[in-house]
Amino acid sequence: MLDTLKKLQNEFEHDLSNIADGSSLQNIKTKYLGRKEGLITLLFEDLKNWSIEKKKEFGGSLNELKRKIEETLAEKEKTLTEKNVFVDLSIPAIKPEVGHMHPISQLQKEIEDIFFGLGFDVQLGPEIESDYYNFEALNIPEDHPARDMQDTFYMDIEHPKKHPGKNIVLRTHISNMQVRYMEKHKPPFSVVLPGRVFRNESLDASHEHTYQYMEGFVVGKNVSYANMAWTLDYVMKEVFGKDVQTKLLPSYFPFVEPAAEGFISCLVCKGKGCSVCKQTGWVEVFGCGMIHQKVLAASGYKQGEYTGFAFGFGLSRLALMKYSIPDIRLFAENDLRFLNQF
Ligand SMILES: [Zn+2]
Repeated sequence: MLDTLKKLQNEFEHDLSNIADGSSLQNIKTKYLGRKEGLITLLFEDLKNWSIEKKKEFGGSLNELKRKIEETLAEKEKTLTEKNVFVDLSIPAIKPEVGHMHPISQLQKEIEDIFFGLGFDVQLGPEIESDYYNFEALNIPEDHPARDMQDTFYMDIEHPKKHPGKNIVLRTHISNMQVRYMEKHKPPFSVVLPGRVFRNESLDASHEHTYQYMEGFVVGKNVSYANMAWTLDYVMKEVFGKDVQTKLLPSYFPFVEPAAEGFISCLVCKGKGCSVCKQTGWVEVFGCGMIHQKVLAASGYKQGEYTGFAFGFGLSRLALMKYSIPDIRLFAENDLRFLNQF
């Protein structure tokens, strides 16, 4: 008899290890404890026919086995239920937070796509630059007063011998790429260059020391001021909508001649006059001009062989207008309450 009980216990332990879900558990339960055919139940039925001695000898062990099987199965059922709750697919999922591109980067991609559609190449350039490419090659020699127009971060590091120029600066504009690009490419070409530029300025609502900027230039035979005006008008209409007007007013930048400041009609008041446009109906958003022949010469092109135009704009300035945001510093503060709105 003891052998029978021992065999039964081994068989149960083997079955137990195969239980994977509720239905296999139920099958095992029926196999051992089922009311009619359960193996344990049958032994208890048989108990009635046992002699007193046999009952005394084995009754306790049989009871013990039954109790053990019941407890084990109950325990198993409990863990299976807990597991089931964990994988219950009908329970609504917790939606994970997903990040997204910064609004300035979104705008940058959008404008890159517009220029790409016009056939422009998209390039990057170095942020740490020699004063040759940042100033000198752009018709801004060392003693030129225009250097004061741009408060510059000069870097206190040794100048590598292979670069022309005396000092290393954090680039004050992406125009540092004009001569760098032209030295390596033969016209005609058109290129836009997004990236960061640095100005030694103190922070307020409309000034930063680091600007997300985009510049571009087109060089070829007979590239004209009209080509420039059309291109920039087209891009502004793509960014701000077909109703926006653009105008160019004469200005001065040493590396372009003639130079212009580009304005768009105020999106806030639709040109009627408000505090954003200082009652003028117009907001300045870009600078541009025909590339100075001295810059083309510094790139190794023959005098008069090519003409070209260049332009540049601060992406945060455009974003301020596009999204009607009052303070430029919001873009750099990384406050999720602000960023999640984009
Ligand atoms: Zn206005």
